[in-house]
Amino acid sequence: MATGIKLKSKRLERERVTIGRMIDLYCGKNHGGTILCADCSELKDYALQRLIQCPFGDEKPACSNCTVHCYKQDMRQRVKEVMRFSGPRMLSKHPYLAVMHLIDEKFIKPRALRKSKII
Ligand SMILES: [Zn+2]
Repeated sequence: MATGIKLKSKRLERERVTIGRMIDLYCGKNHGGTILCADCSELKDYALQRLIQCPFGDEKPACSNCTVHCYKQDMRQRVKEVMRFSGPRMLSKHPYLAVMHLIDEKFIKPRALRKSKII
């Protein structure tokens, strides 16, 4: 597991923590163990890889607002399921992360996408 890596912006670091917590929550409730199962730790590693590759840094929109959709089809399905399950539960478990994510979703629009050169 690639846990020692530092991401290039605070924004991405927070996003890494958020998705990690969401996967932990989902796995704990749905796959029963106290440690992350193989599938979920694969998903977590994959999500981290995507964040490392994300070209937006501090301007990263919430993934749901992004037009790039960098996830592979099957990983995208899996992460969507995690978000559907853990999203509503994050507010009581990790209110700070949940609120910050809602703010990102509302205020950081993919306007930043056009400024960068990938489209
Ligand atoms: Zn799991």
